[in-house]
Amino acid sequence: MTNASLIARHQDSLVLNYGKLPATFVRGQGSRLTDADGKSYIDFFAGFGGTILGHCHPALVSAITQQANTLWAVGNQFYTEPQVRLAEQLRATAFDGRAFFCHSGAEANEAAIKLARLAASTAGREGRFKIISFLKGFHGRTLGALSATPTPDYQKGFAPLIPGFTYVPYNDLPALEAAIDPQTCAVIVEPIQGEGGINVPDSHYLAGVRALCDQHHLTLIFDEVWTGCGRTGVYFGHQLAQDELGKGVIPDIMTLGKALGGGVPVACMFAKPELAALLKPGTHGCTLGGNPICAAVAAAVFDTLEKENLPAQAAQKGKRITDALASFKNVGKIKQIRGSGLFLGIQLHAPDAGPVVQAALAAGLILNATSKNVLRLAPALTITPRDLEEAMPLLDQALSAV
Ligand code: PLP
Repeated sequence: MTNASLIARHQDSLVLNYGKLPATFVRGQGSRLTDADGKSYIDFFAGFGGTILGHCHPALVSAITQQANTLWAVGNQFYTEPQVRLAEQLRATAFDGRAFFCHSGAEANEAAIKLARLAASTAGREGRFKIISFLKGFHGRTLGALSATPTPDYQKGFAPLIPGFTYVPYNDLPALEAAIDPQTCAVIVEPIQGEGGINVPDSHYLAGVRALCDQHHLTLIFDEVWTGCGRTGVYFGHQLAQDELGKGVIPDIMTLGKALGGGVPVACMFAKPELAALLKPGTHGCTLGGNPICAAVAAAVFDTLEKENLPAQAAQKGKRITDALASFKNVGKIKQIRGSGLFLGIQLHAPDAGPVVQAALAAGLILNATSKNVLRLAPALTITPRDLEEAMPLLDQALSAV
């Protein structure tokens, strides 16, 4: 098998719904990937946010192997230990919530949207069904999650979407307040917008959103599919937020995906107990959600985040990258650097970051571009100092492409 031969077979057999780069990966170890032609790469986009501990981390290999030899799926009509352990880890690191497990960020958001509407109708607020989301936000591709994702290119051709979604500018409290009406039941927001270009809100913005939700009895959903699991330098992105008095901000519902399983498909809707209690048997479900294999791997992700102190490492390594960027020979190409921990956006003066991603790939560095001209860096939190240092000149050189 070569890169070229597998790409040709792929074209004939798969739905071509993804923009692709010309590499076929056959092996990964830590932050290193090898393609079918034997070329090695440094992975600065870690499985689109999934492989937060890198490839084949020994703790995850051990967890999946052990679980695969013990118990697979039994169905959610029974109790299994790995999902309880994982839910307990979320309660210990996030807030006192209850977990519903599924497979993807979009599905977790679907569950959150349903629960927010259920909460309004259960509280006797029938007719309150509207949900406010944010311009440049991203919540997934299922119809409900897509309805909360206002990007016209993503919605085009799929009308009618789910009714009741209102879009307002991010980081603009007056705009949010003005959009709340008697039919509004919830707000869904990313603590840092990922797909929209790594947009970090003002320091008290999320506290302001929390206050508006409290004032109007709205369910506040934080979509932490990108910002969860240590990536931003803390366990969850909402832990970066506080009000003027230093008080933290806790959502009513948090959704997780991507990194939760370290690269195996597991996602979670994590809701405060009083909300979670509304989802009675039969109201929602997912056949393989929280199955022992995925849950055991995700539990090992959380064990490892703690054991290796990885959120703190994300903060340190993110700073190392931003320091290095300042001394690049191509620093003039950079308009702004945004983000937190190992979730960084480099906005370019050039209108398109695509050529940089392609030049980096050719040089053996995997990057991503979003929002047209923003390079998005999201390496594994376990990236070694050596790989990180080796990546810096490759990144600098790739910037020459614009
Ligand atoms: N929410 C956010 C913030 C995301 O960035 C994404 C995907 O990129 C999703 C939800 C959807 O996750 P998934 O692709 O697992 O459905």
